[in-house]
Amino acid sequence: MIEMDCTCVQHHHSIPTEVIEISDHAIEKVGEILKDYRRIFMVADENTYQAAGRRVEEILKENGLLSHTLVLPFPALPNAESIGKVLMEAGRDREVYDINAWSLNPDYILAVGSGSLNDTCRMVSYRLGIPYGVVGTAPSMDGYASVVAPLLNGRKKIVYNCSIARHIIIDLSVNARAPYPLLLSGVGDMIGKYVAILDWEISRDRNGEYYCGQIADMVLKATDQCVNAATRLHERDAAAIRAASEGLILSGECIAFCGSSRPASGTEHMIGQTWEVMDVEEGKVPNLHGIEVGEGTFTAIELFRRLYRETDDAHMKSLIEKYLPAFDRIRELQQSLRIPFTVTDPGRFRDGILRGRTFRDRYTVLQYLYDLGKLEEYADAVYEPVMRDYCFSTFREQFPDW
Ligand SMILES: [Zn+2]
Ligand SMILES: [Zn+2]
Repeated sequence: MIEMDCTCVQHHHSIPTEVIEISDHAIEKVGEILKDYRRIFMVADENTYQAAGRRVEEILKENGLLSHTLVLPFPALPNAESIGKVLMEAGRDREVYDINAWSLNPDYILAVGSGSLNDTCRMVSYRLGIPYGVVGTAPSMDGYASVVAPLLNGRKKIVYNCSIARHIIIDLSVNARAPYPLLLSGVGDMIGKYVAILDWEISRDRNGEYYCGQIADMVLKATDQCVNAATRLHERDAAAIRAASEGLILSGECIAFCGSSRPASGTEHMIGQTWEVMDVEEGKVPNLHGIEVGEGTFTAIELFRRLYRETDDAHMKSLIEKYLPAFDRIRELQQSLRIPFTVTDPGRFRDGILRGRTFRDRYTVLQYLYDLGKLEEYADAVYEPVMRDYCFSTFREQFPDW
């Protein structure tokens, strides 16, 4: 259990996660961290098995902790097929089939991977009532400590309640070798936090929504740290990898402390995830979460800038004003980092903004603009500045083999 006293009305926040280990060569400690389990079911995919899984499996075996391993083909999407495979293989280790045995289950599920594998194992863990943990292989999103999992169910993406990781093990030397699109995805997921916290402040002031200043400050600090380091990410600079990894984990922790993703997800996620869902509805494989959220962030920033210029609402103006320096830093960062775009079609871009408003039941600037009758006008107006100032290439152009 990780706990924190707080100045907000809740006075106290806690999450059931027992260990968060972020260090160079963290996987060497996996035997010690998981020493209380005896039948660990390890799940990886072909890539993450090479990156870290093989070594983790070795250590678990040496320590007598491993039940068995499942290596899924790459890419393993967080869908019914992957969940079904993990579920079907979960009890495979029984040497003698014993119909009287009450539980054929392993006593622990260990995901070795990032977003998709973590979400898949989290769901199976929840359904089977078995604890799970994760050895992260890329700083690509902030969901390691999450309490929910967005899973693909047919042509729908549905957020399910799931287990929270009991152990989170992040090996920085493994993260440093992660594919570059995953590193960019992590930054994309992280830069959106400024927008998320601003939306949260707006809802606090307009709707009296619960707000925790301490959590908001923690998220903003982690985001600053990540943004400052991100320009050195392409060199795989150790400090930059550490800042990105720590920032994403901390953001995930804050979501868990808060009991909702409010501190880490606002307009930028609602737009980005709408684009993701549009792909899913069309039967396409969705793009990397953080890449969509990055583009959603640039879009949200331009919505806020326009509102700042035009509004007569003095309070709204003062809220946005606090974030303008951060918005400037993000525009500067994007000039050098060049997170690729997935949506450049004006119609699709616009739909992401309009449909994004109701993507989930959460008050954001999208609802504020809608209530003023201005959302459509704003959606059209920001297309040009977003493409001009932030778009340097599409994902397909930059990573044709992904
Ligand atoms: Zn608090
Ligand atoms: Zn996210």
